[in-house]
Amino acid sequence: MEITLDELNKTIMVMRTKGLLSEALVLAKQGLLVALENGNYGHGLDLYYQKILIHHAFGDTLSMVNLIHEYETYCQKYGTAKDIMHFYLVMSLIYDLVGVREKTVDMTKKSIAYATELKDLVMLVRCHNNLCYLEVENGRYAEAMQAGRLARAYNKELAKTQPELAKLQGIRINNNMADVYILEGAFDTGQTLLDRTLRSELVQNHKREKVAALFGYGFLYEKQQKLEEAVAFYKQAIDLAKSYGDKPILKKVMRMLLNVLYELDRRDEIFEVQRDYIELTEKMNADNLLQQVMYIEFNQQKEKLEKKALYDPLTGVLNRSFLETELTEWMRRAQHSQLFVGVIVLDIDYFKMFNDRYGHLFGDRVLQLLATGLRDFLRKQDAEIIRYGGDEFIICIHNKDRAYINRLVMDLHAYMLTLVFEHENESYSIKVSMGACINDQKNYDFKYLFEQADRSLYKAKNNGRMNYVISGL
Ligand code: GH3
Ligand code: MG
Repeated sequence: MEITLDELNKTIMVMRTKGLLSEALVLAKQGLLVALENGNYGHGLDLYYQKILIHHAFGDTLSMVNLIHEYETYCQKYGTAKDIMHFYLVMSLIYDLVGVREKTVDMTKKSIAYATELKDLVMLVRCHNNLCYLEVENGRYAEAMQAGRLARAYNKELAKTQPELAKLQGIRINNNMADVYILEGAFDTGQTLLDRTLRSELVQNHKREKVAALFGYGFLYEKQQKLEEAVAFYKQAIDLAKSYGDKPILKKVMRMLLNVLYELDRRDEIFEVQRDYIELTEKMNADNLLQQVMYIEFNQQKEKLEKKALYDPLTGVLNRSFLETELTEWMRRAQHSQLFVGVIVLDIDYFKMFNDRYGHLFGDRVLQLLATGLRDFLRKQDAEIIRYGGDEFIICIHNKDRAYINRLVMDLHAYMLTLVFEHENESYSIKVSMGACINDQKNYDFKYLFEQADRSLYKAKNNGRMNYVISGL
């Protein structure tokens, strides 16, 4: 399954590069269903990303926005740095389409920071090229030129390993750079770049890139005061964008066309284009895109707050609300992968004594030291640490090997006894008791496992404390 989804992602990428968008969309849809059904979130996230980019290539903002919330939820839960980078890129595209300029720039810069860190060439090309376009829109031509040149340099590197993709990106870079040259009055250079796009066999399938070049030509003629020619190219761009329903670009070109028509005083045409323009704007407003995007932000904030509430402020480990919210999913993953699950309950021996003798603040610091110890020891494990309350902690751990979990419980107990708390030139060691229950790859009922572990803890305490009891099912 893993390999198949991996191959599928690559195939979709190749199809996208070739401009076979409808076919790629069908595959991405099917693949995504399979990936999510099987809990294969890594590949699922790649498929989400590709699906959203295909909608972008169609100019279908509504579908992008409809997918983004699910995508974000999975990203937050299972995303790696790469997925978060992709998420920022997608958000930048959406913000651009709904016209929130500062956010577009902000998201683009965030994705560039990740791409630089991850040395992801494809993204470095893509994001710097987007930045070039954004700087043009902001009227900062020197910065636009710089971003475009960087995109080109990265693209040269990319060409060594992925020549087809680099060709496509080259077209996109040329289209943006053409705008920069035209704005600076270097008409010939701009035109040369646009000609390259229009001569390329790639634009047969990559309509959006062709629309951009036709639009660029219109812009070139407009700047040269050859208004009749400008009208002709803008109209060509409009017809092509209409042919596959690219609303955002249509809106942009129509507005440019209207300006030129006003200058030419072609009243009948103005009326006609204006009517189309209003109709299109109304259609786009009906989708409530901006509102929906704001709703995403609202949810992001909400989730951040919820996340905060998941952690115990004193020790920084999860608090017991994790047991009600996330644990079911955690167990489901273990069950799906047929892993053994260990539930460990850990409690400090005579903790009350620390409080009574040295005060509550001292007790607090002991709890912090213990939590840090747990985190250090379990850093490389697929484990969750939860403060259940007071001086009691729960550790949930997955592993395919039962004996491994058994060993880990023993080692963890030994490790805890090595923790030493220094206070006013005195050292205090922490003693703990632990009860653990390891399941049988059949029972994944957390409550039941916890009860068994708790019973074992009780036994450990009764056995004189400072020890552990492990029970199986
Ligand atoms: P045992 O060996 O049976 O576990 O004894 P114990 O003293 O550790 O257990 P007991 O349950 O009697 O005491 C736990 C104490 O932990 C009681 C409570 O005042 C204290 N406590 C609970 N939460 C906190 C906290 O956040 N900070 C501090 N300093 N103390 C806390
Ligand atoms: Mg205790």
